[in-house]
Amino acid sequence: MHVNIVRWLLRRIITDMRISFLGAAKEVTGSCFLIEVPAGRFLVDCGMFQGGTGAYRKNLGALSAPFAAKALDFVLLTHAHLDHCGLLPRLTAFGFRGPIFATAATCDLVEVLLMDSAHIQEKEAEWENRHHHERHARRGWERAPLYTVNQARECLRQLIRCDYERSIEPIAGVRLVLRDAGHILGSAIAEVWVDAAATTRKLVFSGDLGQPARPVLRDPTPIAEADILVVESTYGNRLHKRLAETEDEIVSALDDTLRRKGGNVIMPAFAVGRTQEVIYVLADLVRKGRLQPMTIYVDSPMAMAATELTLRHQQLLDDETRDLIEWQRHHPERLRVRFVETVDESMALNEVRAGAVIVAASGMCEAGRVKYHLLHNISRHECSVVITGFQAAGTLGRRLVDGARRVRIFGEELPVRADIHTIGGLSAHADRAALLAWLEGFRRPPAHCFVVHGEAQTAIDFAAAVRQLGWPRVDVPEYGQQVGIGAAP
Ligand SMILES: [Zn+2]
Repeated sequence: MHVNIVRWLLRRIITDMRISFLGAAKEVTGSCFLIEVPAGRFLVDCGMFQGGTGAYRKNLGALSAPFAAKALDFVLLTHAHLDHCGLLPRLTAFGFRGPIFATAATCDLVEVLLMDSAHIQEKEAEWENRHHHERHARRGWERAPLYTVNQARECLRQLIRCDYERSIEPIAGVRLVLRDAGHILGSAIAEVWVDAAATTRKLVFSGDLGQPARPVLRDPTPIAEADILVVESTYGNRLHKRLAETEDEIVSALDDTLRRKGGNVIMPAFAVGRTQEVIYVLADLVRKGRLQPMTIYVDSPMAMAATELTLRHQQLLDDETRDLIEWQRHHPERLRVRFVETVDESMALNEVRAGAVIVAASGMCEAGRVKYHLLHNISRHECSVVITGFQAAGTLGRRLVDGARRVRIFGEELPVRADIHTIGGLSAHADRAALLAWLEGFRRPPAHCFVVHGEAQTAIDFAAAVRQLGWPRVDVPEYGQQVGIGAAP
């Protein structure tokens, strides 16, 4: 009897551990998980909801209801993409004063991305209020930025730089280690050990996982054990093309444009991650002699900052990439990478009629300098647009991929005469096979696995595949759902 009461009490204490899914539940943005354990409470990621008309309202409501920001002990950040860190300044504005743990490279990238994001928030609010002034005045409403540049700067002071592979103890009873996730520079898988009564539970958060055997970054670190696993599923229903096939496509598109047709190549690319990957792939193809020597113009201030950070954190790159950087240093004449800093320099590129490879943001052709380059090149037969990233529905990039014959850029209706090449094989995310291979690295199935960060059907399909591995309990959580993660039933 006495023993039973003790056991009951222990289980009460242990099951007093909870995880709440505050984002990335049946969708790919807004990553945010609240963990409540006997020792305290913390967030893993604090991401922004992106895409779609409802994103702003969702972001407004995101951190207000479920918990008090002031009562959080710390935040653990897996990587610098905005859908993982984009609401941190709001958390600070709501009164969170604790530390935000992330790798050093993530801290550097977060600074670049959050300052830019805050700037965009301010501009969007200003634009909205100016253009819909009368409607807002009738309703007595004004759009406020999600956060200001000052608020973003404030929250950056809470970042604590951590090394990979080193154990830290943010609060008594919670220990964590970050492992390389191979997704973007500084990205991490988080292993978290939580003491509860007489036992320790181990939680693992995959963050976003990279595709193994791809350029620039190392492969995702295998993890051997977890009691609770939260795993992403962005491409849980898809297989990527092989890298060799992707390289062949790039060679044929660039050769055809630069040598046969004698035009320019425009490559829209995300500033962080994709731009550096594109530079690597092109450099490697020039080194192998598969492409002629060339000049790449990188026209995006943020891409320049991200590329500088990548070089500053060279120890995080894979061996092949470090070799390639060394090669390029000794052969600057074979591959010139020119960072276009000023708007004047960017405009000067409009006069270049042939032989230029221009890599510019934004990745989906919706904003930024790439629109100017498209304006000047899209109606010329001898030019090409080489698309290397995901293009969301409704974007200019998507219309080009879908074969639009005419597009509107800055109010000007233009015929599409340039060739549009869609290169599918570059992705920062592990595909279905790579995700499953990573899961098979666990020595024993986790007691409870949660599939997150995937569109609803993708996450559901991927969860079914994980159950096929013989894992006992695999769930796809709902937005806002709270689940006990104490002792196994
Ligand atoms: Zn990511």
